[in-house]
Parts: sequence; C-alpha cells; structure tokens
Amino acid sequence: MVALLLGCGAIYFVLGDSQEASLLLGFLLLIVGITVYQERKAELALESLRDLSSPRALVVREGRKERIPGSQVVVEDIIILNEGDRIPADATILSAHNLSVDESLLTGESVPVLKAIQSTKESWEIYAGTTIVKGSGVGVVSATGISSKLGQIGTALKQTQLEPTHLQRETRRIVKVVAILAAALCVLVAAVFALSRHDFLGGLLASLTLAMAILPNELPAVLTIFLALGAWRLSQRRVLTRRSPVVEALGAATVLCVDKTGTLTYNRMALAKLWTPSGEFDLRDGKGEPLPEAFHEIIEYGILAGERDPMDPMEKAFQQVGNDLLADTEHLHPDWTLMQQYPLSPKLLALSHAWREREASAHLPIAAKGAPEAIIDLCHLEPSAAKSIGDAVERLADSGLRVLGVAKARFKSKELPSEQHDFDFEFLGLVGLQDPIRREVPQAVAECYAAGIRVFMITGDHPQTAKSIASEIGLANPDSVLTGKELNTLSDKDLAERVSITNVYARMAPEQKLRLIEALKQNGEVVAMTGDGVNDAPALRSAHIGIAMGARGTDVAREAASLVLLDDDFNSIVVAVRLGRRIYDNLKRAMGYLLAVHIPITGISVIPVFFNSPLVLLPVHIAFLHLIIEPVCSIAFEAEPEALNVMERPPRPLGAKLFSGELFLSAVWMGTGLLVVLLVVYGTILFRGMGELDARTLTFTTLVMANLGLIASLRTRHRKGKNRFFILASAGSVSLLALVLFVPALRSLFHFSQLHAVDFAIAAAATGVSSFSIWTARWLVSRKRQGTSRAA
Ligand code: ADP
Ligand code: MG
Repeated sequence: MVALLLGCGAIYFVLGDSQEASLLLGFLLLIVGITVYQERKAELALESLRDLSSPRALVVREGRKERIPGSQVVVEDIIILNEGDRIPADATILSAHNLSVDESLLTGESVPVLKAIQSTKESWEIYAGTTIVKGSGVGVVSATGISSKLGQIGTALKQTQLEPTHLQRETRRIVKVVAILAAALCVLVAAVFALSRHDFLGGLLASLTLAMAILPNELPAVLTIFLALGAWRLSQRRVLTRRSPVVEALGAATVLCVDKTGTLTYNRMALAKLWTPSGEFDLRDGKGEPLPEAFHEIIEYGILAGERDPMDPMEKAFQQVGNDLLADTEHLHPDWTLMQQYPLSPKLLALSHAWREREASAHLPIAAKGAPEAIIDLCHLEPSAAKSIGDAVERLADSGLRVLGVAKARFKSKELPSEQHDFDFEFLGLVGLQDPIRREVPQAVAECYAAGIRVFMITGDHPQTAKSIASEIGLANPDSVLTGKELNTLSDKDLAERVSITNVYARMAPEQKLRLIEALKQNGEVVAMTGDGVNDAPALRSAHIGIAMGARGTDVAREAASLVLLDDDFNSIVVAVRLGRRIYDNLKRAMGYLLAVHIPITGISVIPVFFNSPLVLLPVHIAFLHLIIEPVCSIAFEAEPEALNVMERPPRPLGAKLFSGELFLSAVWMGTGLLVVLLVVYGTILFRGMGELDARTLTFTTLVMANLGLIASLRTRHRKGKNRFFILASAGSVSLLALVLFVPALRSLFHFSQLHAVDFAIAAAATGVSSFSIWTARWLVSRKRQGTSRAA
C-alpha cells in the first residue's frame, strides 16, 4: 500500500501536479499512523500476556514462602523446587527428595539426571532453564540471568517454531489468488488505458489506483489483529493465551475434558465422615462435640501420613481436625522426626511415612493413607473383612465423598525397606472428605450441552465418587463410568466407541489421558483438555486446545498448553469457548465485508476504463476509502458483541472453512448489488449529460453511504450489548464525506463538483435500494439456514 501510494505520488509529481502528490503523501502518513497504532495495540496485548505466563518461582524470603516471577529471583534466594518446575536460576541443592532434572536443554541428554547431596559437585548443582521431572528439593541460588550456565551458553529457551494455522494458510492462499488476479487486471487496465487514450502515464496511474483498490492487504492484518485482541479479551476473563491461533480452535471445541478436583470442585477438602469396622462418626453434625476415643487413631495416623506443613488440601483437612479435636490428647506428635517417605504412585495409590519417636524406642511407627483398595492391599486383609470395608467405601462414595483408607504399622529392623508392601500394616478405618462443587458449574455444563459440546470428567478418584459428582453437576449418562483399569483392556477401536457414550472417567492416571484424546480425535472431535502435572504434558500437547491450570499447574504443563486458566475454574473454559465463537463470527463478518466491499471499488475503477468514459476513483479516493475500511474491520467488527444464541447452536464442523462457499457467494452477491447501484447512478448522470465531476461526486457519495448500509446489515442480528465503535465509524465516515463535499478547497482536491438537493436525493435513494436488497438477501439466507437446522 505504501509503495503504491508513493508510486502514484511520484507520477503526479512527474506530471507537475505537486498538490495532488502532497495530498497523497498526507494520506500515506495517516494510513501508516493507523497501522502502527493497531499493531502496537496488538503487540501490547500480547506482551502483557507473555509476562503473566512466564515461569514463576517459589522462594523463601524473610521466613515466608512467596511466589514471584522467575525473572525476579536473586542470588542467595532460597528456592523451593517441585515436580514440573522450570528452574529459574542456577542453584546449589540444600536438600533433595528423588529430585530428577531434565537437563537436555544444556547437555542434549534426554535421560533425567538424579540430583542428591553426594560426593560429586555436579550432582548438587541445578541449572536455570532445566525442568524438574520428579521429586522435590530446596536450593540456594548461585547465579541468575546471563551469569547462569544457560546465559553463558547464550542459548535462548528453545521456542518451537509454530506451524502456520489452518486459518493463516487459508488467508494466505486467498491473498495470493487475489493478488495474481489483481496484477493481471492491472496490466490489462494499463494497456487498455494507454492504447485507447494514448496516455501512458495516465494508464500507469489508473493501474496503480486499481492495485490499491484491490490489494487484499487487510486480510492478513485483520486476522492478526483479531487473534491478538482475542487473546487480550480472554485475559480479561482470567484466561491466558500462550499461542494466539488457539482462539480460532476454541469456538469449534466439541468436547471439554476436565479434571474433577479443583476444576469442577473447589479442591477445598474437609473431613466429613469417619468409619471404622466398629462404627461411624459424622463430623458435620454436632459441631464441637468431642471426638469419641475410637476415632482418634484414624486422625492421628492420617496426619502422620502427611507433610508437616502440607500444601495438599486433604492433608490440610486432617491437620485441621487434629488441631480442633485432638489438641489436648497424646495423639499429636510435633516432636517426632520423619525418617522416610514412600510416595504415591499410579500403581499403588497410597503413601507411607516412617517416623522416629522422641524417646528413641526399638520400633518405628509407620503411617499410611491412600485409596481404599490400595490400603486394603497393604493390610493383607481376609476377603470377608475386605468386603465389608468395600461396602462402606461404596456407601461413603455414593454421597460424593472422596474416600481414603488409613493404616498403621510398627517396624523394628534397622534398615528401612524399599517398598510399602514390606510393612505389616493394620487397617484403622476410612475417612470421607467433602470437596464442594463450584457453584456455577451445573449451569455452565447445561450451557455446554445447549451449545452441542460434551463435557468429560476425568479424575483419579473412586468411580462411585465420580458418578455421584457427575450426576450432581448434571453430566449426561453419569452411570456409565470407565476406569483406568478397564481402559487398559480396551482396543483403540473399542475405546473410540466407548468415548462416544461415556462421560465419566475414574481412577485414571495422567498418562491415560493421551489415549482418550487420540480416541476422541479419531472420532472427529475437537478436544479441549485440562491438566496440571508433568505427566499431563503429552495430553496437553496433543489436544487441539491444551489448558493448563494457573494456580496449581506446573511450568511443564503450562509450556505444553495453549491456554492457562488463572483461576482453575471450569466456568472460565466455557467463557473462553463462548468468546472463541464470538471472535470467529466477527472474523467471518470482517472478512465477508472486505471481500464484498472490494467488488464495487474494483468494478467502478475498471469499468470506465473499458468504456472510455470518465474515471470515478482517483488515488485520493482510494486512500480515503482505505481510511474508512481498515478501522471498520479491525476495530468495529472486532468489538461486535456476541449473538444472543452463540451458545445455542452446535459447534462449527471440524475443517469448516472461514472462506467458505457461502461466504464468497454472499460477498459476491452483496458486492455486485452495490456495484450495480453505483453503475446506475454513474450511468444516469452521464446520460443526463452532466460532466465528469458530477458523475464522480455522486457515485463516490453513494459508495460511501452504501458502504455504511453494508456494514450495518453485516452486524450481529440479536446481539448482547452495544458497540460504540460502529457509531464512531459511521459518524466518522459521514463527517469525512461532508468535509470533502462542502469545504471548497478539499472539494477541488478531490475533483468533486458542488452537489444539489436533488443529487442528494438520488444518492440517498440509491443507498436505500442497495441496503434494502442486501438486507433482504441476508434475511432470506438466515431464514433458510434456520429451516435446515430445524429439519436436521
Ligand atoms: P484427582 O484426579 O481427582 O485430582 P488424584 O489423581 O490427585 O485425583 O488422586 C487419585 C487418588 O489418589 C485419590 O482418590 C486418593 O485415593 C489418592 N491420593 C491422592 N493424593 C493423596 C494423598 N496426598 N494422600 C493419600 N492419597 C492420595
Ligand atoms: Mg489431584
């Protein structure tokens, strides 16, 4: 555009028309200004997001744990390291538990390195930019930024080169086709003009003007701006976009696979029920009532099987009850020392802690808690005892409680064993924990169903608990539950069939999410998937829309995901889908408008050349039109509110094209209609024997006014909320038009004549006709579409 404007200016200059040349220069500056402003806006939007989604570090400062941006870590900070973290700085380990680090970024070696305080210095050092794949630890920072090992090597964090998305490719293809056609047409116009009017420079000027008229430069610009501003809009709803093209996929989502704990529920655990083989106690009724002695041990060992200063909500819940009800008993042991931890694993959903009492005794107390099956397994119970515990689990889980089993053991040898199975556990009882459902979830689920989107609940919890919560939030078919164990026995084909009926997935390991996604994709679904842990990363990467949890998600999960939910809330996902649909609708509108409006502009530039009649559009007019068209697309259409029924229609099919046949047809229809009206106006004036100036003035006025009609007819029909940018755009166009029509100096620069009342009447009538025909066409199409969707 800049080159073309400069070219036209140069020709005018050569022709000795310096006034015209400087006018074009003025326009050039304006257009460049607007473009820079828009790009800056888009860039700022993305920049603020990038900052928010950068890795965070957990440090201890003045005795308090604090979460800060990784870039603010300084030398001698104490950093707490957890599974999934990207290490923010070089550090020396102070303590470590199974700490495995992926250092492939520095060494190229993909096998994780175990870090421990051992003989070699290498094994105590951890480096900025590497990730923790397992375990935890504490370190003290030794170097940051460019003095870190990563900084010295000078490798920036590897950014995977993103492939252009479907939409980008589609847009590029269209731009290419239009550009080739336009170039051919321009050559033709230059030749015809030069030959028929014996004016070479004039022909060149006409052809450059045409090039400016057709140039589809707005298409990619509109795409970029819509996606960037879309990301910004999402961030206002506490959803961060890490890859902006995902905004496009969001609106097409057909399945949302979400974690139960924390996403559908608050992950605020509270102990609700205690069960032992000899009785049951409900902690919810009779607040403040002392806890019967028979239940003291479950709480005691439940606490012992947790961290001293826990992060886990379940472990916090145990401590809460301990502090409330066991404060003056001998069941709390702040003076015991933790000897060894046996962590939870997907194979055995239980964890144990080995302790040493303060008065050294020959026995070490061992505490275990975990999924009831796992605890039963550890206790080697008689089948009849196991059965009665199993029945109790079903009963507790039936009311939506998460059920844990608690067990204890005493160990006398010196060497602690390597496996939990080597202890001789005694079963103590069951604990039912309540995790309230997020308040807006049932409504959001209903909204998804209305929008033709399925919701999958995925959890590591017991199937019965999952079932109960599923029916409470209104999931369809809650009684069909697939467990991780069953999933392993299914073939890919059976699984693909099963995922089309079942919505609840229980006792699932994160690794199994990947198979679910593959099955769904095979069925042609567009899948959104949430995740937070290291093991979720492959699934997050494979999903069309990978969503990491902001509050509890690890850096590894965030980096694999396209979206980050700052508040971990299911409702935010639904809000994002709704926004995605709106953005796609508006994009379609803007693109349709661009295609449509170029038809009359191109037609009215070309046709007079072939008929050897006076030209209507000169470079200034094209530049003027650009000033209106660009902002309308990128600002006004972008801000258009959503239709009232965005969430009441099915998702657009996978592979549906933005530039569909329908979009082209309606654009051609509207654009041609406008062109016909313009030609009628133009022809009438010439036929009545009026001059070139009159013809141009009236045709241009009609074009600008009818353009407003076109815009108005393309707006959302039943919309939610207002869009002041349309009023601004309309008022802006009308005032600019008034300026060039009525200010004598500008009028002559635009080669216009003075209009009379009757001329205005003609322009108004023509505008009315074109707007009415466009509007009618759109009404007919939307009626037909409603008819077919009802029939379907
Ligand atoms: P979810 O997917 O619902 O978050 P998880 O995968 O975190 O479930 O946990 C699965 C199961 O593992 C739980 O139902 C519980 O039985 C057991 N579990 C998880 N965390 C702990 C813990 N800190 N202590 C004991 N058991 C646990
Ligand atoms: Mg969990």
